[in-house]
Amino acid sequence: ANRMAERAVDVIKILMTQGQMATINDVIDADTAELIAIELGHTVKRVSESDVEEGLFDVPSEDNPADLRPRAPVVTIMGHVDHGKTSLLDAIRQANVVSGEAGGITQHIGAYQVEQNDQQVTFLDTPGHEAFTAMRARGAQATDIAVLVVAADDGVMPQTIESIRHAKAAEVPIIVAINKIDKPESDAQRVRTELLQHEVFVESMGGDVLDVEVSAHTRQGLDKLLETILLQAEFLELKAVPEGRAEGLVIEAKLDRGRGAVATVLVQRGTLRVGDILVAGTEFARVRALINDKGEQVKEAGPSTPVEVLGFNGVPSAGDRFSVVENDARAREVTEYRQRAIREKTAGGGATSLEQMMTQLKASGIAKFPLVIKGDVQGSVEAIVASLDKLGTDEVSAQIILSGVGGITESDVTLASASNAIIIGFNVRANKQAQELASRDGIEIRYYNIIYDLVDDVKQAMSGLLKPER
Ligand code: GDP
Repeated sequence: ANRMAERAVDVIKILMTQGQMATINDVIDADTAELIAIELGHTVKRVSESDVEEGLFDVPSEDNPADLRPRAPVVTIMGHVDHGKTSLLDAIRQANVVSGEAGGITQHIGAYQVEQNDQQVTFLDTPGHEAFTAMRARGAQATDIAVLVVAADDGVMPQTIESIRHAKAAEVPIIVAINKIDKPESDAQRVRTELLQHEVFVESMGGDVLDVEVSAHTRQGLDKLLETILLQAEFLELKAVPEGRAEGLVIEAKLDRGRGAVATVLVQRGTLRVGDILVAGTEFARVRALINDKGEQVKEAGPSTPVEVLGFNGVPSAGDRFSVVENDARAREVTEYRQRAIREKTAGGGATSLEQMMTQLKASGIAKFPLVIKGDVQGSVEAIVASLDKLGTDEVSAQIILSGVGGITESDVTLASASNAIIIGFNVRANKQAQELASRDGIEIRYYNIIYDLVDDVKQAMSGLLKPER
């Protein structure tokens, strides 16, 4: 603010509208600083790394490679119902409970960590793409790798396909776990072949998706699965800054009779400690105790570690970002500000309509037009997708996040919400839950029964986007 000759409060306001809470004494990362400077109409020039070496920036930061340390991958298990997601999560966990360790008793806190070859892997305990995408719809991405479970006796099923789409939309790499390999009728090769149709190409089929044959029942292949996850993680070069105030995500929260409001958080950077004051969404906590997935009290938790936090004043929501702040007063100030913002927003109404999207896109200069398309028959869906693809120019193009046959479901709405997309129904309607969710999240659903009308509307919207304003 000083160097731009702007008021500090204006800088903080912009940070807050972006959901980042900062105070005048906080250090923000260079990317954020750049965005803010641009937002305020200034020109930014990045200085060299030597400034860092000279100690001008001695606060730990993602921008200083020396501060970065490898971190454990965070994994979500997805797949069709009854293909063995829960069994696999349980089997992996049990295999890793060292006998004698807290009597072998494990604690379900929403995520757990296991060790393989001295390296940690973090598993989110709520399987399925719904939780994953619900988080993403709130702007939170916890997952680094998706393990897609496909039962070898059943093959690719509707929710397998949905999971693939959701993982792809989030650009999270997939590892295929071909489960129930112990069953005599299992056919792993058939699974690999079926996956081809959904653009998941495993290595033996000439692609680069890793696959492992497993059995949650006999525990065959579990080590190999963990090793494969670590291999994939190595490709991703996952790193985080373990120093400094903790930040991360709430992955589960509840009101516990004996213990009050508790939340499980996943630390993403920095280190969370007992005694810290943290803000999560509209709630805050003075951390009274931290409990790990083995039910043990711990003093601190670093990047990629899930811990249960005791000491919340209220129950935060899964998907809320949390950050440690310097004191109570700040925590109150931030949560009150957010509560007010929410009240104002709910009074003011929804988010994505075709027109609002145009305005937003214009402002951001991104000429991608995200759409979710659902239709009654494959033929018309293909025709619509082909026509929309043709509309694209160098400056703007339709980005079809998902296209498929069938009614509009909740899952479609969550995906649209995560990607800021509009939903188009061709000769299909949205079910009641989907309608409710869409109106709650302010997602526009448009219905058509003539392809020409549909394409024409999108075209008009896109040309509106291109109309020169200068
Ligand atoms: P989810 O719905 O994907 O979480 O699936 P579950 O973990 O609940 O498993 C569904 C059913 O498949 C249960 O009856 C499990 O006992 C069974 N199952 C899961 N994994 C295996 C496996 O590796 N082999 C066999 N034979 N059955 C399995």
